[in-house]
Amino acid sequence: MLNLYNSFTKSLEKVELSSDDVKVYLCGPTVQSSPHIGHGRSSVVFDFFIRYLKYLNYNVSFARNITDIDDKIIIKSSEQNIGFKELANKISKEFEQAYSNLNCLSPDFEPKATEYIDEIIVYIKQILDKDMAYVSESGVYFNTAAFTDYLKLSGRKLEEVISGTRVDIQDDKKAPEDFALWKFAKEGEPYWESTWGKGRPGWHIECSAMINTILGEEIDFHCGGNDLIFPHHENELAQSKAAYPNKNFVKYWLHNGMINLSGKKMSKSEGNVKILNDYIDEYGGDVMRFYFLRAQYRSPQEFSEDLLIESQTTFNKIAEFIKDTKPGPIDKNLINLFEECMGDDLNTPKLIGEIFLQINNSTKLDHLIQNDLKATIRYIFHTLGFTFLKAETEQLSDEKLANYFDNYGIIFESIEQAMNEYIIIREQHRTNEEYEIADVMRDSLLKIGIKIEDGKKDDWSWNNN
Ligand SMILES: [Zn+2]
Repeated sequence: MLNLYNSFTKSLEKVELSSDDVKVYLCGPTVQSSPHIGHGRSSVVFDFFIRYLKYLNYNVSFARNITDIDDKIIIKSSEQNIGFKELANKISKEFEQAYSNLNCLSPDFEPKATEYIDEIIVYIKQILDKDMAYVSESGVYFNTAAFTDYLKLSGRKLEEVISGTRVDIQDDKKAPEDFALWKFAKEGEPYWESTWGKGRPGWHIECSAMINTILGEEIDFHCGGNDLIFPHHENELAQSKAAYPNKNFVKYWLHNGMINLSGKKMSKSEGNVKILNDYIDEYGGDVMRFYFLRAQYRSPQEFSEDLLIESQTTFNKIAEFIKDTKPGPIDKNLINLFEECMGDDLNTPKLIGEIFLQINNSTKLDHLIQNDLKATIRYIFHTLGFTFLKAETEQLSDEKLANYFDNYGIIFESIEQAMNEYIIIREQHRTNEEYEIADVMRDSLLKIGIKIEDGKKDDWSWNNN
């Protein structure tokens, strides 16, 4: 049983799919600047979702696009004095790195807008043929008045939309809420040829055209951040219903909540954007995933470095508890709880709560039952895309360090404390002119990644690779 909140019906719905072949589309990034924590959330929470669909034995066809041409890319690249392609490629690589380090499954299709210009043009023609768009001085626009269900997805009122429309609206639109399907190129801007004139696609049309080309006229799940509901998804829906009025474009619309920095919504205009890859480098993919797992995907999630540290500590407790076990779905009770939580609109915080309850109660269990529990917890985390690699390497090095220092009668508590004691012992050997012992100490220490520099008092460095 899988229940999910559908943004279109604004209710929790029991998921009913006509086939085991499931089509999922996730709106990917506009590659104009480095990924921030919000991009991380969207990619990870929908990675949990896709992995869970696979766990339920669905064959998932997953597409996530890259918007590699857009007004912001043009502006940013000209500010940096580079071509729009160069900027898009550079930023795409940063996203690729983040997705990979977060251990997100690679999509089956990762289309770029600039690779689908022909399909986009054909799609716009279809909308024009249905008389639901018009050509003006500055581009081709969707005629929102011709689509009666406009704003049904976002639930917005037309007045709000009009008053929220930017002042820089083109004067040649029939109505301020009409949006561009094709923008004619201004002097110096990149362009592609079309029947209407040289230009580039509007933002929304690429998703309609790429979904249609790659996945077909109807898909099961359309995912993205809830900041995309309006205008992006509203407009995608309008275009797709205009081109294919008898098709149900999307069965379930799923949207993740935003990240808040100290209670503020994270947005570029607020200037409080952090770089995702820095956090991944510091904490590792598992801890980042665990941080995202701690909130239900639709809720807003607070973000601070303290919360990441807290996630690290909590995650390490789980890693410590399940170390030396192999994954296996042995504890049926816990597997049922896993499915119950995930089936309840991917209630991952509830799942973590249940797992900790089991860990806390496990001291009373006999050894074999405890091992079943450990194997099952590992299985659940593996199913959700956790690797435990970093946590376990760190545990291994702590163990290794403790064994090493034990040879010199030092009880290892931290690297600093152990090294302070170690240096005193070695200095004593040097004072006694026992240089051979001092050298053995220096060389063996280097083998475990710690370097001592003689001549500089107390100087040592530590490299945990
Ligand atoms: Zn999109």
